[in-house]
Amino acid sequence: MDTVEDGAPGSATGSHCTSCGSVSCIGCRRTLDPPRFCPNCGRRLTVTVTPGGYRARCRDHGELTAG
Ligand SMILES: [Zn+2]
Ligand SMILES: [Zn+2]
Repeated sequence: MDTVEDGAPGSATGSHCTSCGSVSCIGCRRTLDPPRFCPNCGRRLTVTVTPGGYRARCRDHGELTAG
């Protein structure tokens, strides 16, 4: 059961929680935590820790800007 479709095409930008990937999240994201899910599609991100912080990369949307 992993189907989360709201039937609202074109309104996916930044609608997913970057911490849990849910579209109906009330805000569990902590400021210090790196994003784990793409805000655009809710897909799990590939997070790479760098000396300056981290890089989060979505398979579909590419690298996301930190912050
Ligand atoms: Zn969340
Ligand atoms: Zn994405």
